[in-house]
Parts: sequence; C-alpha cells; structure tokens
Amino acid sequence: MRPSPTPRSAPLALLVLALGPGCGDPDGGGREAKAKHVLLVTVDTLRADHLATYGGRPSVSPAIDALAAEGTLFERCHAPTGMTLASMTAMFTSKWPDETGVRSNLHRLRDEEWTLAERLKDAGFRCRGFTANGVLQPDKSGIDQGFDAHRRIEDEPWLTHLASKMLVEEFGNDPERRDFLWVHYMDPHQPYQRREPWATRFDPSYDGPFDAEEETLQRIFVDKVELTPRDVQHVEAVYDSQIRRVDQFVRSILSALEKSGHAEETLVVFSADHGEDLYDHNRYFYHANSIYGSVTHVPLVFRQPGRVPAGARVDDLVELIDVMPTILAWLGLDPTAGDWKSHPRGTDLGPAMTSGAAVGKDFAFAQIAFHVYAIRSPGWFYVENPRGYMPRSIPKEGEYVIAERELYDLGGDPDEQTNVLAEHPDVADKLAKALRAWKDDLISVDATEQDLTDEDRARLEALGYLGGGEDDGE
Ligand SMILES: [Zn+2]
Repeated sequence: MRPSPTPRSAPLALLVLALGPGCGDPDGGGREAKAKHVLLVTVDTLRADHLATYGGRPSVSPAIDALAAEGTLFERCHAPTGMTLASMTAMFTSKWPDETGVRSNLHRLRDEEWTLAERLKDAGFRCRGFTANGVLQPDKSGIDQGFDAHRRIEDEPWLTHLASKMLVEEFGNDPERRDFLWVHYMDPHQPYQRREPWATRFDPSYDGPFDAEEETLQRIFVDKVELTPRDVQHVEAVYDSQIRRVDQFVRSILSALEKSGHAEETLVVFSADHGEDLYDHNRYFYHANSIYGSVTHVPLVFRQPGRVPAGARVDDLVELIDVMPTILAWLGLDPTAGDWKSHPRGTDLGPAMTSGAAVGKDFAFAQIAFHVYAIRSPGWFYVENPRGYMPRSIPKEGEYVIAERELYDLGGDPDEQTNVLAEHPDVADKLAKALRAWKDDLISVDATEQDLTDEDRARLEALGYLGGGEDDGE
C-alpha cells in the first residue's frame, strides 16, 4: 500500500519557521531541509516480523508500534547480510559489503569511505553515537568515522540513561549546530536471556525439555535435533521478551527527545542491522550463517510529526542502503555530492513517503562473505552458492547447508522453505542473470583486517564474537 495523504498536525509554514535558522538551504544547493536534526535508533538482531506492527506478538513492542503509527513504515526492508558491522557499514555508506570491503565483523571500514556521519559532520552537524554491540567498537571497526563522540556501552540501561541525558540537555540546544544521534541496542541478540516479567507472561506453561540457553541452541543446530513447534514457540517467547525490554529503552529515548523540545524538527529513523533464524532453516538459532528473509527482513520506520505521513505503510521493496540517501536528502543535503565513487547505491525514500511515489527498486541483494549471493524480487527469492560454501561462523561446528542454487516462490512460500528451482528454471535463470549484472557492476574492494590486540581478541572471544576465520560475525 502506498502512503495515503494524512492530516498534517501543523501548517507547513509554521513548521518551516519552527525549523529555525540553518534549516532552509543548508548546502546552498537549493534543497529544502525537512528536518533540522536526526535520531537513528537501530536494534541488533531484530526480525521485522516479531514486532507487533509487522504481525508479531501483540504486546511485544508497544513503543515501537506507536512510533510506526506516528510515522511511515516500510513493509519490505532488507539487510545486505547477517553480520552487524558489515550491515551497519552498508547502511552508513550506502554501499554493499563487497564495495566497502567490510564483509565480516573482523574487517575495518577504510578511511577513504565517506560515511553518513562524515557527510553530516561536513555539513556542520554534531555527531554522537552510543552502541551496545562489541563489534561496533569505535576505533577498531572504523564505524566511528565522522562521529565527534562514539561510545560503546554494553550496559543497556546505562546506555539509555546517558543517551537520554544527552538528548534532554544537549540535543538541539546550540542554535548554530544541527545534531545527529545514533543509538544501537544489543538485545535481542544471543545469548537469549529471559527478560521478566515478559518471558513468563509470553510463555507461562512450557514444560518441554529445551531451554533457550546458547549451549542448548548450538547443540540443536550441530546435532540437528528435532524440535516440536511448541519447543520453538518457547525459544521465541524468550527472544520476544528481549524485544519487549528494548522497547522500553526505545520509549525512554523517544520520551527524552520529546523533553528536549526538538521532536518536531527531528527525523527519527528506526531499524535493525539484521534479523535472526529461529529454527527457520537448518535448525539454526542465529544469524551470521543465514541469507534468508528471517535474517534479512528488518524493520524500517521514519517519523517526523507533520512531515512524515503518519500511519502510512509502504509495500515496495527497499534496502538498508537506502537509509543514508534518504536521511541526507531529508536534511536538505545532496546525497550525490562528492566523488562518484562515494555516491550512494541506495535510493532516496523521501518521495515514497511524501508523495506516494514508487520506490522503483526491482531487486534487493544479499551476500555471505564473497561466497553466497542472493537476489530478491517482490515475488521470488533466488540464492547462488556456486562453490558449495558452508558458512561456519557461530558456532564453528555444525552444517548450515545452502544448495548450489535455490529458488523460493514468495507468493505461496513466504518463509522460504521449499526450493522450487526444478519447477521454475526460467525464473531462476532470469534472476541469476540480474544477480550477475549486479555483481558485474560492483566496485569490489579487498578487506582490511582490524588491528586487534590480544586483549581485544580475548574480550571479543569471551563474548562469543570470534573464533578465527574470515566470515566470523554477529
Ligand atoms: Zn548484529
């Protein structure tokens, strides 16, 4: 469904006045800035379909659902890969992992890449980040490029406290500056933890033999243990209890933005780096080895009162690489400024929000390292694994089998369970051709390894992040 025109909460002229100085034409290129500031909230490992607003458990995400109801939601947004750093650098550069060279969590974003934060900094923004995931370690990963301050804080209540304090006390308080704040949460990432009272509320009566402990789930994957739907439901309840906990943090962050007095002039963007296999494929509970919709389908919501249509839902296929050009254009900046090599690969989604224009994207693409590639159209999903690569990220053992070629008919099989390659070779060939054309067009760069000390490795290993190997990742 296209966004429908909705009543605006304030006349446009008033809003333009409210945006204040520096907001009309900040880059001198005649572009109108619709927002003065931007708040980006991303949640690690958050499957779109587990949020209530995307059809998940009704009480799992009240604050995120309210945000979506106040803004425009994209029904079909896909991440380029199931690894945090590779996916977030793709979002921040509007390039695919092959083009940034960041295909795993052990790679480093090259200094020559021009990120969202760098573009905003160049335009006079104060850029701050608070991230809870260890693989987004600022100085090692290069994800901090352009940030004036970027802190990694694993304690999420503390992270929320500091980010909220910053919002209330500093965000938008300098009439000469514009602000960009990025907050990245780690729940509902593994190890799954029963977040109470929700874990019990979501599943008060399970008395089966499986818990949602990391070791149990790894054993299920490695030994290919058969679970009943009820067992899977139990693990999902624990995963969902973590979503419910993050939802509280999101509520606090949004309420701090309200308190700052700058919510009306701030574009809020909500999304995730990737989703999670929850026994959907290969009896796997994790994300790094998977390329299916369970892992690539992520939420995407934009909100700005009176500017972004409220309650609209866009059904077009979009990708995380579209986030950066959308934010830049919305802020009145030229996404295609600078050298052609730094031009975004993504599409500005602003027109789809404001005028119901079609996004115009025929395909979304995904990859695992440089071994497995996939292409998604609105009706089909096609995967190529030409060398029979077996992803072995986390855990290191176990078999995550992806056939040489797979094709799924999303119309009758939205969960991508039945490979119909043999029945539809013509569709597969057409998608293979489009996939090849996309790959031929990529400006591929080699990976730059992160410069990790023994101490870094020990710390990341303790968190379950490392084990060696190029496709390591969260
Ligand atoms: Zn992640």
